[in-house]
This record gives sequence, C-alpha cells and structure tokens, in this order.
Amino acid sequence: MNKAVAALSRLLLGDDARQKVRASQALLVLTVYIVFAMVQHAEVVLGMMDASQSWALTAWNLAGGFGFYLGIRCGLNLRLKSGRSLAIPQSVWAMVGITWSYAITGAARGAVLLIMILVVVFTMFELTPRRARAVAGAAFAMLASTMVFKAWTDPVLYDPRVEAMHGLFSGIVLTASYILAVRIGTLRARLVEQRTSLQLQRTELGEALERIRTLATRDELTGLLNRRAAMEHMQRELAVRARPEPMMSVALIDLDHFKRINDEHGHAGGDTVLRRFGEKAQSVIRDGDLLARWGGEEFLLVMPATRVGQASATLQRIRQAMSNLCLDDVAPGMKVTFSAGASECLGAHDLEAAIARADAAMYSAKRAGRDRFVAFEEHVAS
Ligand code: GH3
Ligand code: MG
Ligand code: MG
Repeated sequence: MNKAVAALSRLLLGDDARQKVRASQALLVLTVYIVFAMVQHAEVVLGMMDASQSWALTAWNLAGGFGFYLGIRCGLNLRLKSGRSLAIPQSVWAMVGITWSYAITGAARGAVLLIMILVVVFTMFELTPRRARAVAGAAFAMLASTMVFKAWTDPVLYDPRVEAMHGLFSGIVLTASYILAVRIGTLRARLVEQRTSLQLQRTELGEALERIRTLATRDELTGLLNRRAAMEHMQRELAVRARPEPMMSVALIDLDHFKRINDEHGHAGGDTVLRRFGEKAQSVIRDGDLLARWGGEEFLLVMPATRVGQASATLQRIRQAMSNLCLDDVAPGMKVTFSAGASECLGAHDLEAAIARADAAMYSAKRAGRDRFVAFEEHVAS
C-alpha cells in the first residue's frame, strides 16, 4: 500500500525536492480550480449564472491549473531565466479568473472575494515582500476597477453601495494578508540565512577538528607520527595479533653526535637533517612498518609480525640509505650516522618493557662506538 502511494507521489510530483514542493502547490491550486468549477456549475443550475459564461471561465481556470502543473512537472520552469518560480504568472492567471468570476456571478459575488485572499496566501511561500505587495496591489486594482465598471454599467444587480462596501472590505483584507505574507517571507529568509550559517559553521568546525587531529598525532617538523600516536598504533597492532606468530619488534634509532650538528650548522641545519632522515628512512621501510618521531633526534621503528633477528635487515637498509643521502646543502660532504637498539615485543602487556629494552640496546650500541645496530638478545649476551 505504502509502495503504491510512493509510486503515485513520484508520478505526480517527481523526485527533486524543490520541484516537489512547487508541483504539490500547483496540484493544490488545480484542486481548488476544480472545486470552484463545481460550485460555479451549481450556480448555473440554480439559475444564478449564465451557462456559456460559466463554461468560458471554467475553461480559463482549468487551462491555467493544468497548464502550470504540467509546466512545473515537466521542469519547464527550470529553464526560465527569471528565477525558477511560476508564482507571478500563476497569481496573475488566478486574479484574472477571480475578477472575471466576480463580474459574472451576480448576487453571490461576495463569496468570490474570499478566493482572492487565497492568491496572496499562495504567493507567501514563493515571493519576496516586494513582489507579494505587487500581487496584493494588482488584486485590489483589478477588483476595484471591476466593481466600479459593474456599478456603472449594471447598477441594478451591482448596487454601487454594495460595491463600495465590497471594495472597502477587499482593501482591508488584502492589506492584512499582504502584511502576513511579508512577515512569513521575512521569517523564511531568516531561516534560510540561519541554515546557511549553520552549514558554514559545521564545515569550519570539521576543518578545525581535522587540523587539531593532525596537530595531535603528527610531528610538525618531520610529518611522522608522534610518540602518542605511535603508542596507539602499536596497541592497535598488538590487539589484532595472535600467537604463535611473532607479535612485533621495535627499534629505537638515535642520530649520532647530533648536538655537534646543531652546534656546527645551526638549529635550522639540524632541523633539515631530522626532516631528511625521516623522509629517507620512511622510503626504505616495508609497507606494514611504521616510523615515528619519538622525540628530539630519536625515532621509533615499529615492525609488526617481525622477529628481532629479522629487524636488522630493515635497519641495515636505512643505514645504507643514510650513507647515500646527500646533505651538501647543509654542509658539503656531510654524513649522518645513527645507533639503534631493537627488541621483540611479546604482547600488549610487554610494550613499555620492550621499548625500554630497545632503549638499553641502543645505548649499548652508542657505547660500542656508534653507527651500529644492537638487538636486545645480543645485548644481553654481551
Ligand atoms: P649521541 O651520539 O650520544 O646521541 O650524541 P647527541 O649529541 O646526538 O645526543 P644528545 O642527546 O646530547 O643531543 C641531542 C641534541 O638534539 C640536543 C638537542 O638540542 C637536539 N635536538 C632535539 N630536538 C631537536 C630539534 O627538533 N631540532 C634540532 N635542530 N635539534 C634538536
Ligand atoms: Mg638522543
Ligand atoms: Mg643522538
């Protein structure tokens, strides 16, 4: 049942949300026209209106009702240069029909005036205050001139005193409905403005959040993950590993005599070396491995599912890459070496201890003369 309703709604109104609103408005107007035609027919039956006049007016009304609905449903309004709303032509069409009806309805014409208010109400949702005023003004002008004309040419049926009263009340009611239309229009504009600024705030907030996330997880100088992000990465990595496969090996890498580099080539030179080491090392590690800046001139290499014995191959690749790295822009012929210590991590519970073992191994590499790699087991053996 719901499916059938949805299919019918799609058939009648289409898919586009904005066009759906316009098409349903046009359908509502068409319904009013059809009901209006039936009431008019009743007046003919009751002898209050001439049948041929009634048919002509019904033809005008239904042509407008069907025409505007089909125009909107087929998307013809989207091709208009002057905006996408047909509210102005729709209301002009309706006003002509209503004035016409007033002129031919005779004794029951007072009821027709009520319909005129509908025109202003319908335009509330589409028009700017200036245009709504133009519509209300045109409605009044058309009615007033018809009243004057009929009172002049047919004073028996259209008693001038009654016409004066009708004119007065039309003026009051149309002015009041115009003021309401402007208020609703202002409210609508404010809503649109609020929604736009809310969307803007949301995107700005999203961008700020992304910036904060980057600042919180990345080292600014090298662009590598920072210590905290590296710890989180290792915890996540260890959580998905299961024995008996090796869990992970970690290596601490410390650049040799880095203080000297800073002293001799300035802090900016030192920064360049740190950045270049990061780039170079990153380019030679395996896909699943991770290099993070641990702090100062120390880096941490995370090697998931790797025995400490296998870690030496990766460190050897980094060592080789560093010996080929050209740092002539910092100082001609400059070479940078590092000492590293590695240790195997036995699981999440062992993470802090494994890093401490790698640190101890790294210091033993320093003591042994730098520019070398020591795995914790060798370190223990020695
Ligand atoms: P060792 O071979 O024993 O490791 O000697 P070292 O000089 O490398 O060790 P030390 O820990 O004494 O010196 C590290 C220096 O790194 C000290 C510090 O000023 C410098 N440093 C730390 N962070 C940065 C940084 O971001 N940029 C620069 N340029 N220098 C840094
Ligand atoms: Mg250090
Ligand atoms: Mg150092």
